[in-house]
Amino acid sequence: SLTALPNRVLFRDRLEHGIARARREGAMLAVLYLDLDNFKHINDTLGHHVGDELLRQISARLTEKSRDGDTVARLGGDEFVVILENDASPQTAAHVAHKIIQLFAAPFSIGERDIFITTSVGISIVPSDGADPDTLLKQADLAMYKAKQQGRNTFQFYEATLSAQALERMTLENALRGACQRREFFLHFQPQVNLADGRLMGVETLVRWQHPELGLVPPARFIPVAEELGIIGEIGDWVLAEACQQMARWREAGFDMPRLAVNLSVQQLEREDLAGRVSELLMRWQIPADRLELEVTESMLMGKSGRASETLEGLRRLGVYLAVDDFGTGYSSLGYLKRLPVHRLKIDYSFVRDIGRDRNSENLVQAVIALGNSLGLELVAEGVEQETQAEFLRQAGCPIAQGYLYSRPVPAAEVQQRWGAISPATA
Ligand code: C2E
Ligand code: MG
Ligand code: MG
Repeated sequence: SLTALPNRVLFRDRLEHGIARARREGAMLAVLYLDLDNFKHINDTLGHHVGDELLRQISARLTEKSRDGDTVARLGGDEFVVILENDASPQTAAHVAHKIIQLFAAPFSIGERDIFITTSVGISIVPSDGADPDTLLKQADLAMYKAKQQGRNTFQFYEATLSAQALERMTLENALRGACQRREFFLHFQPQVNLADGRLMGVETLVRWQHPELGLVPPARFIPVAEELGIIGEIGDWVLAEACQQMARWREAGFDMPRLAVNLSVQQLEREDLAGRVSELLMRWQIPADRLELEVTESMLMGKSGRASETLEGLRRLGVYLAVDDFGTGYSSLGYLKRLPVHRLKIDYSFVRDIGRDRNSENLVQAVIALGNSLGLELVAEGVEQETQAEFLRQAGCPIAQGYLYSRPVPAAEVQQRWGAISPATA
């Protein structure tokens, strides 16, 4: 009655119905159990009037921000429960729990006072954690205690729901959503040099993600997750646009970058408007098409999607270069090299690394170089770290190399500082 939220009886009824429906439809349902942190302290020091008003305001915030179809209830005292229906996966539940915790970030103003309070949230899921209201509430309550033990102002799942690994993965997913809008990505560029004379031949664009809590997350960790979430297209669009703009900035600064390489993901290749977008960017930033190189992997080229080959054809018509990344790690069928408009092979780091250590890798590197040369394809060796590797590649007839021996991936300004003064190779 204090908060105008459904009470315990009504809540049980809703939960029971929700569970029945979820089971009937084979869907998931999540129970979020909230307990305010140190509420008793506020009640004791500021009085019950303030405590009651605080509960009212918290209820209002929770209700206002809840989605249609979800239920918010007060179980009594300073405990609230939110039921997420609509097939709420653990990911969704984590997302909502995170948002709920964020709702407490701003203070509640009562009278003249700003009161800061946080909440701990425990989560249980149907079907993995139970199938009746009592069990689910008990598990969510237990999870809530775990959250309190973790230092409060956080959320936890009931143990059975998720392994530590899955939880880490979920944290990553949640952080990744909206990372683009929050402008957490930036670009590094890694030079590619001519093995004969050390001239700069171009740069590869490599995306970086700096998250306020997770720190710098390597692309090998977040790109696969972004692909699964279906948001790699958005990230890839940004990378492409930003890299093209950087080409224009370099040119304005009098630094003529011979070629810019950008990695593509399969979802970008499958979008029908990729060639159109690339063409727009080239026009907008006045970049000759043959200065842009798009990197794809073998598996992307082998995909059966007709749309991907249309896109590739469109890109070829534009005159954009196409490179096969991580060459040698994917499929054994090489037929696509004849069929598709490929210009370049990038010999994978795993082979280059073993030069001087493993005869098979050396043979493979030589074979790939011979293959490339006979098909009229350009070759780039990736991950060159030592002069002995560079020498081997030079001897074997590989013209271009990329790797820590020459430069790590660095910010645009650093590329310009180091290479801008030297007259670059013309592509
Ligand atoms: P990749 O395209 O094969 O990029 C080369 C990777 O090798 C980069 O890792 C680079 O930092 C690393 N590398 C370069 N030289 C050396 C070396 O001498 N030694 C060693 N050990 N490593 C070297 P990074 O930046 O962590 O990127 C990893 C992968 O993430 C990339 O592999 C690429 O597949 C993907 N990626 C990066 N940026 C993008 C992007 O904008 N879009 C897409 N779709 N994928 C991206
Ligand atoms: Mg690459
Ligand atoms: Mg590679």
